[in-house]
Amino acid sequence: MRLVILGGGESGVGAALLGQAKGYDVFLSDRSPIKATYLETLREAGIPFEEGQHTERLILNATEVVKSPGIPDTVPLVVQLKAMGIPVISEIEFAARYTQAKLIGITGSNGKTTTTLLTYHLLKTAGLNVGLAGNIGDSFAKQVINDTFDYFVLELSSFQLDSMYATRLDTAILLNITPDHLDRYAYKFQNYVDSKFRVLQNLTPADTFIYFQENAPTVQEIAARKPDVYTVPISLETATSPGGYAHNGQLTTRYRDRSFTIDTASLPLQGPHNALNMLAAILAAQSVNVPDEAISEGLRTFRNAAHRMEPAGVINGIKFINDSKATNVDSVFYALSSMHAPTIWIAGGQDKGNDYSQLDEVVGQRVKALICLGKDNKKLVDYFNDKVDTIRETQDVTEAIQLALELGQPGDMAILSPACASFDLFKNYEDRGNQFKAAVQALLTNK
Ligand code: ADP
Repeated sequence: MRLVILGGGESGVGAALLGQAKGYDVFLSDRSPIKATYLETLREAGIPFEEGQHTERLILNATEVVKSPGIPDTVPLVVQLKAMGIPVISEIEFAARYTQAKLIGITGSNGKTTTTLLTYHLLKTAGLNVGLAGNIGDSFAKQVINDTFDYFVLELSSFQLDSMYATRLDTAILLNITPDHLDRYAYKFQNYVDSKFRVLQNLTPADTFIYFQENAPTVQEIAARKPDVYTVPISLETATSPGGYAHNGQLTTRYRDRSFTIDTASLPLQGPHNALNMLAAILAAQSVNVPDEAISEGLRTFRNAAHRMEPAGVINGIKFINDSKATNVDSVFYALSSMHAPTIWIAGGQDKGNDYSQLDEVVGQRVKALICLGKDNKKLVDYFNDKVDTIRETQDVTEAIQLALELGQPGDMAILSPACASFDLFKNYEDRGNQFKAAVQALLTNK
């Protein structure tokens, strides 16, 4: 059995180690240079590999291929493999074969990481023996080599789902579907929808499917497919049973014969988007029998990953928030909806074909000034020109903060929630968020 792995990143190297442990003849190929730490792992394990090229002779003789989610299905090598009838699967699909653990899988255009980390934290708080994997942290494959976990919480991107076929989740969460990554889906939204719905494949009536009731593409698709699975909607508008409902500062869930209620005021996750993420995580925890006390405690003690509505500091009574991860319009909608004070909105970067009309109302209600932080701000400026009183432009993070200080007053909020990719001025969204936080801190210490 020859296992060929395309891509020498976290998931590829993990799959190589797992393949080797399971007795495959493994070969790993990466068209780009492989990171030093991964090279070391491969060498130490004695796994043959190549970097900087794909040698067809060494690849086309595979029994099965594990492909990194970063490689599109349309690259000639993958097309050729498929034409030859060689199965091309994701690392998740490969690893899932080797674990007895119950799997909770989480996908959606926005909120995956937050919901995955929170679900993991709720199970951990209950003392369950749980692993965290997927699009986050250590590779799933590496973690199943000794198969010691009883549960896994998996963050699943659409790219990972695309190469999943037989994996059966016990609990699937689909947070929302809004247009994203369409370049990988032949610019057809339905292709992207189909990809997200792969979380449902192989689910049985005993399994649980949690989804957002107010997301039109999801609801339409469910109506068309009528999945035969225990279906639990979460909602900001209607209470259902089973279901999760965020209303009047409370979260309420009903899962089979269990109910759960908690006040949100003192919880670390705030805003309507996070209410949905919390509902999904609570229901997932209930689906594996986490007791109420552990759910409450876990919700209270959760700390989210950086760059997601992260407090960055208070200067002159203005609260600065780093939401650099908000790289599309939908996430900005929820971020601005969570602001409880007049808001200075720092946005911009590399446009991804944004349609800003979704923000009209929330910007009208909350935003007093817009600071555009990008190389080309024309689209933002043109769109919001007659909708926001003050618009300023800069290409410098520190200057963006100084402008916010100039335009704001004590009690205001200033949020970096860009709606755009970061690659015009920064390495990535983390770099943008880190520079923002550092600049806020530097201004604080210089005061
Ligand atoms: P993902 O992993 O799917 O990119 P994250 O949890 O990292 O999602 O959140 C990214 C950004 O998306 C956050 O900064 C927030 O602004 C926004 N967001 C989070 N949850 C949701 C949600 N349920 N719906 C819409 N936007 C969300």
